[in-house]
Amino acid sequence: MDRAVLTLKPREDLRLRAGHPWVYDNEIARVEGSPQAGDEVEIRDGRGQTVGVALFNPRSKIRARIYSRKPRPADRDFFVETLTRALELRKRSFDPDRQSLRLVFGEADGLPGLIVDSFVGQPAGQAGLASGGAAKAGRWLSLQILSRGMADRRDLIVEALAEVFPATGLVERSDAPVRVLEGLEAVTATISGTVPDSILITEGGLTYAVDLVGGQKTGWFLDQRSNRAAAATYARGRRVLDTFCNAGGFGLSCAAAGAESVLAVDASEEAVAQVSANAARNGLEGKVKAVAANAFDYIRGLEREKERFGLVVLDPPAFAKNRASIEGAHRGYKDLNLRALKLLEPGGILVTCSCSHWFDRERFSSMLEEAAADSGKRLRILEERSQDLDHPIVSGYGESRYLKCVIAEAFR
Ligand code: SAH
Repeated sequence: MDRAVLTLKPREDLRLRAGHPWVYDNEIARVEGSPQAGDEVEIRDGRGQTVGVALFNPRSKIRARIYSRKPRPADRDFFVETLTRALELRKRSFDPDRQSLRLVFGEADGLPGLIVDSFVGQPAGQAGLASGGAAKAGRWLSLQILSRGMADRRDLIVEALAEVFPATGLVERSDAPVRVLEGLEAVTATISGTVPDSILITEGGLTYAVDLVGGQKTGWFLDQRSNRAAAATYARGRRVLDTFCNAGGFGLSCAAAGAESVLAVDASEEAVAQVSANAARNGLEGKVKAVAANAFDYIRGLEREKERFGLVVLDPPAFAKNRASIEGAHRGYKDLNLRALKLLEPGGILVTCSCSHWFDRERFSSMLEEAAADSGKRLRILEERSQDLDHPIVSGYGESRYLKCVIAEAFR
Protein backbone atom coordinates (compact mmCIF):
# COMPACT_ATOMS: atom_id res chain seq x y z
CA MET A 1 0.00 0.00 0.00
CA ASP A 2 1.17 3.49 -0.84
CA ARG A 3 1.34 5.37 2.41
CA ALA A 4 2.33 8.96 2.87
CA VAL A 5 5.51 9.36 4.91
CA LEU A 6 5.85 11.62 7.94
CA THR A 7 9.51 12.28 8.73
CA LEU A 8 10.23 13.41 12.26
CA LYS A 9 12.56 16.14 13.42
CA PRO A 10 15.82 14.92 14.98
CA ARG A 11 15.36 13.02 18.27
CA GLU A 12 11.56 13.16 18.11
CA ASP A 13 11.60 9.41 17.52
CA LEU A 14 13.03 8.67 20.99
CA ARG A 15 9.75 9.00 22.89
CA LEU A 16 7.99 6.95 20.25
CA ARG A 17 10.63 4.23 20.33
CA ALA A 18 10.20 4.06 24.12
CA GLY A 19 6.55 3.18 23.53
CA HIS A 20 4.60 6.39 23.15
CA PRO A 21 2.07 6.18 20.31
CA TRP A 22 1.42 9.86 19.49
CA VAL A 23 3.13 12.09 16.94
CA TYR A 24 2.42 15.76 17.64
CA ASP A 25 2.13 18.34 14.87
CA ASN A 26 5.29 20.20 15.95
CA GLU A 27 7.44 17.05 15.81
CA ILE A 28 7.11 16.54 12.07
CA ALA A 29 9.89 17.80 9.78
CA ARG A 30 8.17 16.98 6.49
CA VAL A 31 5.32 15.11 4.87
CA GLU A 32 5.70 13.19 1.60
CA GLY A 33 2.44 12.46 -0.17
CA SER A 34 -0.90 14.04 0.65
CA PRO A 35 -2.46 12.05 3.48
CA GLN A 36 -6.15 12.63 4.23
CA ALA A 37 -7.82 12.47 7.63
CA GLY A 38 -7.96 8.87 8.85
CA ASP A 39 -5.34 7.60 6.37
CA GLU A 40 -2.51 5.25 7.25
CA VAL A 41 0.86 6.98 7.24
CA GLU A 42 4.39 5.71 7.82
CA ILE A 43 6.44 7.42 10.52
CA ARG A 44 10.19 7.71 9.91
CA ASP A 45 12.97 9.15 12.01
CA GLY A 46 15.43 11.77 10.76
CA ARG A 47 17.68 9.04 9.31
CA GLY A 48 14.87 7.51 7.29
CA GLN A 49 14.30 4.48 9.56
CA THR A 50 10.71 3.34 10.03
CA VAL A 51 9.32 3.95 13.53
CA GLY A 52 5.84 2.58 12.85
CA VAL A 53 2.60 3.04 10.98
CA ALA A 54 -0.02 5.45 12.25
CA LEU A 55 -3.44 6.89 11.54
CA PHE A 56 -3.34 10.51 10.41
CA ASN A 57 -5.51 13.43 11.42
CA PRO A 58 -4.62 16.92 10.15
CA ARG A 59 -7.33 18.40 12.44
CA SER A 60 -5.71 17.24 15.65
CA LYS A 61 -2.57 18.33 17.52
CA ILE A 62 -2.02 14.59 17.84
CA ARG A 63 -1.26 14.43 14.14
CA ALA A 64 -0.76 10.67 13.96
CA ARG A 65 -1.38 7.74 16.31
CA ILE A 66 0.81 4.68 15.89
CA TYR A 67 -1.13 1.42 15.64
CA SER A 68 1.74 -0.89 14.71
CA ARG A 69 5.52 -0.78 14.96
CA LYS A 70 5.85 -2.95 11.86
CA PRO A 71 4.28 -1.67 8.65
CA ARG A 72 0.95 -3.40 8.05
CA PRO A 73 -2.49 -2.23 7.00
CA ALA A 74 -5.09 -1.33 9.64
CA ASP A 75 -7.44 -3.90 8.14
CA ARG A 76 -9.80 -6.57 9.42
CA ASP A 77 -6.91 -8.97 10.21
CA PHE A 78 -5.22 -6.28 12.23
CA PHE A 79 -8.34 -5.66 14.29
CA VAL A 80 -9.07 -9.35 14.79
CA GLU A 81 -5.51 -10.01 15.95
CA THR A 82 -5.31 -6.99 18.22
CA LEU A 83 -8.72 -7.62 19.78
CA THR A 84 -7.81 -11.26 20.33
CA ARG A 85 -4.66 -10.21 22.15
CA ALA A 86 -6.66 -7.81 24.30
CA LEU A 87 -9.12 -10.57 25.17
CA GLU A 88 -6.36 -13.07 26.01
CA LEU A 89 -4.81 -10.53 28.38
CA ARG A 90 -8.14 -10.11 30.22
CA LYS A 91 -8.62 -13.86 30.45
CA ARG A 92 -5.59 -14.09 32.74
CA SER A 93 -7.35 -12.11 35.44
CA PHE A 94 -11.05 -12.30 34.63
CA ASP A 95 -13.72 -14.55 33.20
CA PRO A 96 -15.02 -12.40 30.34
CA ASP A 97 -18.06 -14.66 29.92
CA ARG A 98 -19.22 -13.91 33.45
CA GLN A 99 -17.68 -10.59 34.39
CA SER A 100 -18.08 -7.06 33.12
CA LEU A 101 -14.77 -5.58 32.06
CA ARG A 102 -12.96 -3.18 29.78
CA LEU A 103 -11.96 -5.23 26.75
CA VAL A 104 -10.04 -2.49 24.97
CA PHE A 105 -8.24 0.38 26.68
CA GLY A 106 -7.24 2.42 23.66
CA GLU A 107 -3.54 3.01 23.10
CA ALA A 108 -2.65 0.68 25.98
CA ASP A 109 -4.08 -2.18 23.89
CA GLY A 110 -2.60 -0.96 20.61
CA LEU A 111 -5.91 0.46 19.38
CA PRO A 112 -5.44 4.24 19.59
CA GLY A 113 -8.64 6.04 20.47
CA LEU A 114 -10.80 2.94 20.89
CA ILE A 115 -12.46 1.93 24.16
CA VAL A 116 -14.64 -1.17 24.41
CA ASP A 117 -16.42 -2.08 27.63
CA SER A 118 -18.23 -5.36 28.04
CA PHE A 119 -21.17 -5.68 30.42
CA VAL A 120 -22.41 -9.11 31.38
CA GLY A 121 -25.85 -9.29 32.94
CA GLN A 122 -29.52 -9.28 32.16
CA PRO A 123 -31.99 -6.63 31.09
CA ALA A 124 -33.18 -4.76 34.18
CA GLY A 125 -36.87 -5.02 33.30
CA GLN A 126 -36.78 -8.81 33.28
CA ALA A 127 -34.83 -9.27 36.46
CA GLY A 128 -37.92 -10.14 38.46
CA LEU A 129 -38.95 -12.85 36.02
CA ALA A 130 -35.60 -14.45 35.51
CA SER A 131 -34.85 -15.82 38.94
CA GLY A 132 -32.56 -18.44 37.38
CA GLY A 133 -31.50 -15.70 35.05
CA ALA A 134 -29.47 -17.75 32.63
CA ALA A 135 -31.85 -17.64 29.68
CA LYS A 136 -32.03 -13.88 29.61
CA ALA A 137 -28.40 -13.25 30.39
CA GLY A 138 -26.21 -11.68 27.78
CA ARG A 139 -23.22 -9.56 27.03
CA TRP A 140 -23.46 -6.00 25.79
CA LEU A 141 -20.57 -4.06 24.37
CA SER A 142 -20.20 -0.33 24.70
CA LEU A 143 -17.92 1.24 22.13
CA GLN A 144 -16.28 4.61 22.55
CA ILE A 145 -14.35 6.04 19.63
CA LEU A 146 -12.05 8.97 20.35
CA SER A 147 -9.91 9.28 17.22
CA ARG A 148 -10.58 9.97 13.58
CA GLY A 149 -8.66 6.88 12.45
CA MET A 150 -10.88 4.59 14.52
CA ALA A 151 -14.05 6.50 13.62
CA ASP A 152 -13.35 5.84 9.93
CA ARG A 153 -12.88 2.13 10.66
CA ARG A 154 -15.95 1.69 12.82
CA ASP A 155 -17.51 -0.96 10.55
CA LEU A 156 -14.31 -2.99 10.48
CA ILE A 157 -14.09 -2.81 14.25
CA VAL A 158 -17.70 -3.94 14.64
CA GLU A 159 -17.07 -6.90 12.30
CA ALA A 160 -13.89 -7.88 14.10
CA LEU A 161 -15.63 -7.64 17.47
CA ALA A 162 -18.42 -9.91 16.23
CA GLU A 163 -15.79 -12.49 15.35
CA VAL A 164 -13.61 -12.24 18.47
CA PHE A 165 -16.15 -11.41 21.17
CA PRO A 166 -19.75 -11.82 20.01
CA ALA A 167 -22.34 -9.90 22.02
CA THR A 168 -26.10 -9.66 22.44
CA GLY A 169 -25.99 -6.01 21.49
CA LEU A 170 -23.54 -3.25 20.70
CA VAL A 171 -23.97 0.39 21.56
CA GLU A 172 -21.78 3.32 20.58
CA ARG A 173 -21.15 5.89 23.30
CA SER A 174 -18.89 8.25 21.41
CA ASP A 175 -20.04 11.34 23.28
CA ALA A 176 -16.86 12.29 25.13
CA PRO A 177 -15.99 16.00 24.80
CA VAL A 178 -12.43 15.18 23.58
CA ARG A 179 -13.93 14.10 20.23
CA VAL A 180 -14.07 17.78 19.32
CA LEU A 181 -10.26 17.87 19.28
CA GLU A 182 -10.36 15.22 16.55
CA GLY A 183 -13.02 17.05 14.54
CA LEU A 184 -15.63 14.42 15.41
CA GLU A 185 -19.26 14.95 16.39
CA ALA A 186 -20.87 13.22 19.36
CA VAL A 187 -22.54 9.90 18.51
CA THR A 188 -24.78 7.76 20.71
CA ALA A 189 -26.40 4.89 18.83
CA THR A 190 -27.32 1.24 18.96
CA ILE A 191 -25.07 -0.40 16.37
CA SER A 192 -26.32 -3.95 16.42
CA GLY A 193 -28.52 -6.40 18.31
CA THR A 194 -30.91 -5.30 21.00
CA VAL A 195 -29.75 -2.98 23.74
CA PRO A 196 -32.04 -2.56 26.76
CA ASP A 197 -31.97 0.84 28.47
CA SER A 198 -30.64 -0.70 31.59
CA ILE A 199 -28.99 -4.00 32.47
CA LEU A 200 -28.16 -5.59 35.80
CA ILE A 201 -24.53 -6.53 36.31
CA THR A 202 -22.86 -8.07 39.31
CA GLU A 203 -19.68 -6.95 41.01
CA GLY A 204 -18.37 -8.25 44.29
CA GLY A 205 -21.56 -10.22 44.79
CA LEU A 206 -23.78 -7.13 44.45
CA THR A 207 -26.21 -6.27 41.67
CA TYR A 208 -26.04 -2.87 39.98
CA ALA A 209 -28.07 -1.36 37.18
CA VAL A 210 -25.96 -0.03 34.34
CA ASP A 211 -27.56 2.41 31.99
CA LEU A 212 -25.83 1.63 28.71
CA VAL A 213 -27.30 4.51 26.75
CA GLY A 214 -27.80 7.29 29.29
CA GLY A 215 -25.20 6.61 32.03
CA GLN A 216 -22.01 8.59 32.55
CA LYS A 217 -19.04 7.49 30.44
CA THR A 218 -19.83 3.99 29.23
CA GLY A 219 -22.18 3.40 32.16
CA TRP A 220 -20.08 2.01 34.98
CA PHE A 221 -16.62 2.86 36.32
CA LEU A 222 -14.91 -0.48 35.81
CA ASP A 223 -11.46 0.85 36.64
CA GLN A 224 -12.36 1.17 40.34
CA ARG A 225 -13.58 -2.43 40.70
CA SER A 226 -10.70 -3.76 42.79
CA ASN A 227 -10.45 -0.52 44.76
CA ARG A 228 -14.10 -0.79 45.76
CA ALA A 229 -13.42 -4.31 47.01
CA ALA A 230 -10.30 -3.16 48.85
CA ALA A 231 -12.10 -0.24 50.50
CA ALA A 232 -14.88 -2.55 51.66
CA THR A 233 -12.46 -4.69 53.65
CA TYR A 234 -12.01 -1.76 56.08
CA ALA A 235 -15.69 -0.90 56.39
CA ARG A 236 -17.02 -3.27 59.03
CA GLY A 237 -18.75 -1.42 61.85
CA ARG A 238 -17.86 2.02 60.46
CA ARG A 239 -19.92 5.01 59.42
CA VAL A 240 -19.02 5.53 55.77
CA LEU A 241 -19.10 8.70 53.68
CA ASP A 242 -18.89 7.98 49.93
CA THR A 243 -18.36 11.21 48.01
CA PHE A 244 -18.55 11.49 44.21
CA CYS A 245 -20.36 8.20 44.55
CA ASN A 246 -21.95 7.95 41.07
CA ALA A 247 -24.12 4.79 41.22
CA GLY A 248 -22.79 3.95 44.67
CA GLY A 249 -20.17 1.28 43.99
CA PHE A 250 -17.88 2.18 46.90
CA GLY A 251 -20.64 2.85 49.41
CA LEU A 252 -22.69 -0.24 48.63
CA SER A 253 -19.60 -2.46 48.73
CA CYS A 254 -18.91 -1.04 52.20
CA ALA A 255 -22.52 -1.51 53.29
CA ALA A 256 -22.48 -5.14 52.17
CA ALA A 257 -19.19 -5.67 54.01
CA GLY A 258 -20.76 -4.66 57.32
CA ALA A 259 -20.54 -0.87 57.48
CA GLU A 260 -22.83 0.57 60.12
CA SER A 261 -24.25 3.16 57.72
CA VAL A 262 -23.39 4.77 54.39
CA LEU A 263 -23.95 8.37 53.34
CA ALA A 264 -23.42 8.72 49.58
CA VAL A 265 -23.12 12.07 47.79
CA ASP A 266 -23.08 12.96 44.12
CA ALA A 267 -23.93 16.11 42.18
CA SER A 268 -25.96 14.13 39.67
CA GLU A 269 -29.63 13.50 40.56
CA GLU A 270 -29.68 10.45 38.29
CA ALA A 271 -26.63 8.99 39.99
CA VAL A 272 -28.24 9.48 43.40
CA ALA A 273 -31.45 7.80 42.22
CA GLN A 274 -29.28 4.89 41.01
CA VAL A 275 -27.63 4.59 44.44
CA SER A 276 -31.02 4.26 46.15
CA ALA A 277 -32.28 1.79 43.56
CA ASN A 278 -29.06 -0.24 43.76
CA ALA A 279 -29.24 -0.24 47.56
CA ALA A 280 -32.80 -1.59 47.41
CA ARG A 281 -31.81 -4.22 44.84
CA ASN A 282 -29.31 -5.60 47.32
CA GLY A 283 -31.44 -5.29 50.45
CA LEU A 284 -29.19 -2.52 51.78
CA GLU A 285 -31.70 0.34 51.73
CA GLY A 286 -31.83 0.48 55.53
CA LYS A 287 -28.14 1.34 55.72
CA VAL A 288 -27.66 3.65 52.75
CA LYS A 289 -28.69 7.26 52.36
CA ALA A 290 -27.98 9.02 49.07
CA VAL A 291 -27.91 12.80 48.71
CA ALA A 292 -27.74 14.96 45.59
CA ALA A 293 -25.35 17.79 46.38
CA ASN A 294 -22.13 19.48 45.46
CA ALA A 295 -19.68 17.34 47.41
CA PHE A 296 -17.36 20.26 48.20
CA ASP A 297 -20.18 22.25 49.86
CA TYR A 298 -21.68 19.19 51.45
CA ILE A 299 -18.40 18.20 53.11
CA ARG A 300 -18.11 21.74 54.50
CA GLY A 301 -21.60 21.37 55.94
CA LEU A 302 -20.69 18.08 57.61
CA GLU A 303 -17.58 19.74 59.04
CA ARG A 304 -19.67 22.59 60.49
CA GLU A 305 -22.03 20.10 62.07
CA LYS A 306 -19.07 18.22 63.53
CA GLU A 307 -20.11 14.96 61.88
CA ARG A 308 -17.57 12.15 62.13
CA PHE A 309 -17.02 9.10 59.95
CA GLY A 310 -14.99 5.94 60.25
CA LEU A 311 -14.29 5.75 56.52
CA VAL A 312 -14.40 8.46 53.86
CA VAL A 313 -14.15 7.83 50.11
CA LEU A 314 -13.05 10.65 47.80
CA ASP A 315 -13.40 9.81 44.11
CA PRO A 316 -13.71 13.15 42.32
CA PRO A 317 -13.58 13.70 38.55
CA ALA A 318 -10.15 14.66 37.14
CA PHE A 319 -9.08 18.09 38.41
CA ALA A 320 -6.00 18.27 36.16
CA LYS A 321 -6.99 17.98 32.51
CA ASN A 322 -3.61 19.20 31.20
CA ARG A 323 -0.18 20.34 32.31
CA ALA A 324 -1.34 23.92 32.87
CA SER A 325 -3.92 22.90 35.47
CA ILE A 326 -1.64 20.80 37.70
CA GLU A 327 -1.01 23.51 40.30
CA GLY A 328 -4.67 24.42 40.55
CA ALA A 329 -5.53 20.73 40.82
CA HIS A 330 -3.00 20.36 43.63
CA ARG A 331 -4.80 23.03 45.65
CA GLY A 332 -8.17 21.46 44.86
CA TYR A 333 -7.14 17.94 45.87
CA LYS A 334 -5.40 19.20 48.99
CA ASP A 335 -8.40 21.18 50.15
CA LEU A 336 -10.73 18.25 49.57
CA ASN A 337 -8.44 15.75 51.32
CA LEU A 338 -7.88 18.12 54.23
CA ARG A 339 -11.62 18.43 54.76
CA ALA A 340 -12.10 14.68 54.52
CA LEU A 341 -9.36 14.12 57.11
CA LYS A 342 -11.11 16.50 59.48
CA LEU A 343 -14.26 14.38 59.21
CA LEU A 344 -12.45 11.20 60.22
CA GLU A 345 -12.69 9.88 63.73
CA PRO A 346 -9.42 8.69 65.34
CA GLY A 347 -8.30 5.55 63.53
CA GLY A 348 -10.56 6.44 60.59
CA ILE A 349 -9.81 5.31 57.06
CA LEU A 350 -9.39 7.61 54.08
CA VAL A 351 -9.85 6.13 50.59
CA THR A 352 -8.67 8.86 48.27
CA CYS A 353 -8.50 8.75 44.48
CA SER A 354 -7.36 10.80 41.53
CA CYS A 355 -8.02 9.78 37.95
CA SER A 356 -5.86 12.39 36.27
CA HIS A 357 -2.63 11.09 34.77
CA TRP A 358 -1.20 14.62 34.82
CA PHE A 359 -1.40 14.51 38.59
CA ASP A 360 1.11 11.72 39.05
CA ARG A 361 1.78 9.44 42.01
CA GLU A 362 4.54 11.61 43.45
CA ARG A 363 2.31 14.69 43.33
CA PHE A 364 -0.53 12.75 44.84
CA SER A 365 1.64 11.55 47.73
CA SER A 366 3.00 15.00 48.49
CA MET A 367 -0.48 16.52 48.28
CA LEU A 368 -1.68 13.96 50.80
CA GLU A 369 1.27 14.62 53.13
CA GLU A 370 0.49 18.34 53.09
CA ALA A 371 -3.19 17.72 53.76
CA ALA A 372 -2.31 15.43 56.68
CA ALA A 373 0.10 17.97 58.15
CA ASP A 374 -2.48 20.74 57.93
CA SER A 375 -5.15 18.56 59.49
CA GLY A 376 -2.95 17.88 62.52
CA LYS A 377 -3.19 14.16 61.84
CA ARG A 378 -0.74 11.63 60.50
CA LEU A 379 -1.44 8.94 57.99
CA ARG A 380 -0.49 5.32 57.95
CA ILE A 381 -0.49 4.43 54.26
CA LEU A 382 -2.12 1.01 54.03
CA GLU A 383 -2.43 0.58 50.29
CA GLU A 384 -1.24 2.48 47.22
CA ARG A 385 -3.42 1.21 44.46
CA SER A 386 -4.06 1.90 40.80
CA GLN A 387 -6.65 0.98 38.18
CA ASP A 388 -7.81 -2.62 37.84
CA LEU A 389 -6.04 -4.99 35.46
CA ASP A 390 -8.45 -4.57 32.55
CA HIS A 391 -7.00 -1.06 32.18
CA PRO A 392 -3.40 -2.05 31.43
CA ILE A 393 -0.47 0.26 32.17
CA VAL A 394 2.23 0.18 29.51
CA SER A 395 5.76 1.52 29.74
CA GLY A 396 6.52 4.54 27.63
CA TYR A 397 2.87 5.58 27.55
CA GLY A 398 2.42 7.54 30.76
CA GLU A 399 -1.21 8.38 29.99
CA SER A 400 -2.08 4.75 30.66
CA ARG A 401 -1.04 5.13 34.31
CA TYR A 402 -3.80 7.40 35.48
CA LEU A 403 -5.72 6.15 38.49
CA LYS A 404 -4.41 6.51 42.03
CA CYS A 405 -6.24 5.16 45.03
CA VAL A 406 -4.57 5.48 48.40
CA ILE A 407 -6.06 3.83 51.46
CA ALA A 408 -4.72 5.32 54.68
CA GLU A 409 -5.47 5.27 58.37
CA ALA A 410 -5.50 8.57 60.22
CA PHE A 411 -3.96 8.85 63.67
CA ARG A 412 -2.55 11.56 65.89
N1 SAH B 1 -17.04 6.53 42.77
C1 SAH B 1 -17.76 6.24 41.57
C2 SAH B 1 -17.24 6.96 40.35
C3 SAH B 1 -17.14 8.46 40.50
S1 SAH B 1 -17.02 9.33 39.00
C4 SAH B 1 -17.75 4.73 41.33
O1 SAH B 1 -17.08 3.99 42.03
O2 SAH B 1 -18.45 4.28 40.42
C5 SAH B 1 -17.13 10.97 39.55
C6 SAH B 1 -18.50 11.40 40.02
O3 SAH B 1 -18.38 12.72 40.54
C7 SAH B 1 -19.58 11.46 38.96
O4 SAH B 1 -20.63 10.61 39.34
C8 SAH B 1 -20.05 12.92 38.98
O5 SAH B 1 -21.47 13.06 38.86
C9 SAH B 1 -19.62 13.37 40.33
N2 SAH B 1 -19.37 14.80 40.51
C10 SAH B 1 -18.72 15.66 39.70
N3 SAH B 1 -18.62 16.87 40.27
C11 SAH B 1 -19.20 16.77 41.49
C12 SAH B 1 -19.41 17.67 42.57
N4 SAH B 1 -18.97 18.92 42.53
N5 SAH B 1 -20.04 17.22 43.67
C13 SAH B 1 -20.47 15.94 43.75
N6 SAH B 1 -20.31 15.07 42.75
C14 SAH B 1 -19.68 15.45 41.64
